[in-house]
Amino acid sequence: MTRDLSTDLIHHPYQPPEGFEAPQGPVHKASTILFKNVAAVRSRDWRHKTGYTYGLHGTPTTFTLEERIATLEGGTHCVLVPSGLAAVALVDQALLSQGDEVLIPGNAYGPSIALARNELQRWGIGHRLYDPMDPASLASAITDRTRLVWLEAPGSITMEFPDLPALVAVARARRVVTALDNTWGAGVAFKGFDLGIDIVMQALTKYPSGGGDVLMGSVVTRDVALHEKLKFTHMRLGVGISGNDAELVLRSLSSIALRYAAQDQAGRDLAAWLGTRPEVRKVLHPALPDSPGHAHWRATCTAAAGLFSVMFHEHYTQAQVDAFVDGLKLFRIGYSWAGPLSLAVPYELQTFRSAESLQRAHLEGRLVRFSVGLEGVGDLKADLAQSMAASLA
Ligand SMILES: *Cc1c(COP(=O)(O)O)cnc(C)c1O
Repeated sequence: MTRDLSTDLIHHPYQPPEGFEAPQGPVHKASTILFKNVAAVRSRDWRHKTGYTYGLHGTPTTFTLEERIATLEGGTHCVLVPSGLAAVALVDQALLSQGDEVLIPGNAYGPSIALARNELQRWGIGHRLYDPMDPASLASAITDRTRLVWLEAPGSITMEFPDLPALVAVARARRVVTALDNTWGAGVAFKGFDLGIDIVMQALTKYPSGGGDVLMGSVVTRDVALHEKLKFTHMRLGVGISGNDAELVLRSLSSIALRYAAQDQAGRDLAAWLGTRPEVRKVLHPALPDSPGHAHWRATCTAAAGLFSVMFHEHYTQAQVDAFVDGLKLFRIGYSWAGPLSLAVPYELQTFRSAESLQRAHLEGRLVRFSVGLEGVGDLKADLAQSMAASLA
């Protein structure tokens, strides 16, 4: 009996020869993963990466990326999720139950705070914001209900660099798990685990991708029990990643140290130059000596991301600062960072920080956050100069 054409196309006898090897590994894609027999189904093990069970739980491509990201962070186990924010959410969901509390730095990535204010709150999980520049503020915020302390270095937008070892010591003394949002450091500027941090997450969307074209997040640990907790929650929530996205990050990951160093150099060059301009009140870049927490940055880091904020003098109107941003030609307007394209975004600090905390941190003025891409630094400088001349005269 002849078989149907569709059957022959699906159950085709051809097998390509073994022995193919290339610098970039294959992209394995699957929802279904085939088992040899029923016994193999019954003895399936998704826990130890000794085999494959279902696309959501891993393929050779996603396992490879997990191992490399664990190496990047200096950890041993990694879970990958579809965005940086999903990585924050996974940590929260794996570690927190009704009645628990999580502590978050007051200058943390905004959506991480919004997640706590809205979703966690609805689930009966409390949160408090602490001042990351004051370890005593963390100490006094910890209660019997505290199960997790978030750390971020530097804080998003205001670029204040905290004393991470001091914050970790406070949490450890109370036996509370610490989790670091390491998107800025990217595993290149410093190693969170060397500071005694328990969980290190990162938006791979930024430096590891480097292209502005992928969303992904990672959660790395050195502790098997903690990893299994994260892995179980990951499996139950179904927040896996695609093989194509994993391939894009694997492709870029090999050049992360070079890109980070180049963007660091360009960022420091531009930040220092902007600091000399009369339009500028202050440049917030942890490698600049008068930036908040500079001494902590110097004690902790060997490099800095190509990211900084500029406070323009208060006598400029918001409309003037907006016109300056609109007038930039090479810097484009957009969120995210660490791609090849330089970006600028104005932020109104008053909308997400209390007036009192801004005053205490000397953060008055109109702020624009810059992400430096890979264009020529001279060209970027000329672009900033022409738009300042046009709008901030
Ligand atoms: C971008 C970013 C995130 C979130 O990453 P997404 O992939 O955009 O969800 C989290 N934390 C920090 C510090 C970030 O900059």
